[in-house]
Amino acid sequence: LPQTGVKDAAQLIERPSNFLMKRTGHKYSHGHALVLAGGTGKGGAARLAARAALRIGAGLVTLACPQSALAENAAQLTAVMLTPLPDGYSLRGMLADARLNALCLGPGLGQARAQEMVPAALWGKRATVLDADALTAFRDDPETLFAQLHEGCVITPHPGEFRALFPNLADALVDPARPAYSKLDATREAAARAGCTVLLKGPDTVIATPEGRAALHSATGAHAAPWLATAGAGDVLAGLIAGLLARGFSPFDAACSAAWLHAAAARSFGPGLIAEDLPEELPKILRALD
Ligand code: AMP
Ligand code: MG
Repeated sequence: LPQTGVKDAAQLIERPSNFLMKRTGHKYSHGHALVLAGGTGKGGAARLAARAALRIGAGLVTLACPQSALAENAAQLTAVMLTPLPDGYSLRGMLADARLNALCLGPGLGQARAQEMVPAALWGKRATVLDADALTAFRDDPETLFAQLHEGCVITPHPGEFRALFPNLADALVDPARPAYSKLDATREAAARAGCTVLLKGPDTVIATPEGRAALHSATGAHAAPWLATAGAGDVLAGLIAGLLARGFSPFDAACSAAWLHAAAARSFGPGLIAEDLPEELPKILRALD
């Protein structure tokens, strides 16, 4: 894993270590991740995230959705627990359980539900990954979101979601007057503004903290994984980060390790990859790390 103190250059993300499970651990000591999902017909992304969180070793994963979507989710998930979650008030109630130690917000959530659920979720000050609808729901007022984000958060925008939250930084990246302004610069600035770890997706993945620590997974390096350019791949990444947060990884380490494992799973599967293959490929990757 990248080490601390890198201010000027980003480190290349390397093969992660310390994935071994404690021999005396139990499911609660491996953490409990909560994935928030939306209504009927929108849950695929949340289910991908939930399976990824379990596969990466969270001890328990619960998917919370509207009552109307319970049957649909139950038909697709077995080891993932399901609970109905009508509103933000109920979410605050759930977060009274301190063992729910990591949250995944955004994939399959729906923007209207995100506007209600994200503030309630962030109020609980859990380690949290925010992606997709949890980001775009705040495109009209990103400052409201930034004011609620905390240092235990990771946001994982793709370039479009990045533009929704940081239009000035997105403009700077394509400004011919600033040829030296890089994706690394933009990600660092975004992290400082948001006040949390930022993982900016794309063929190259850049991760930065508000303090300026940064890491890069390169599209052209020896670990490139072009098969990741497929629907749902980002939802799996959010789930991997949530699972690692549940296991107790710091936001930066969770983001870096998830990016590496995500690419490793895609490389191991190879051509024809679809998003649901990624969590199922992980055991092979994890076995090789032990
Ligand atoms: P999303 O757009 O949210 O589905 O996320 C797509 C995921 O695939 C992110 O993790 C990207 O970094 C990754 N990705 C997309 N295109 C490529 C590519 N050409 N090479 C490597 N990774 C990619
Ligand atoms: Mg996405």
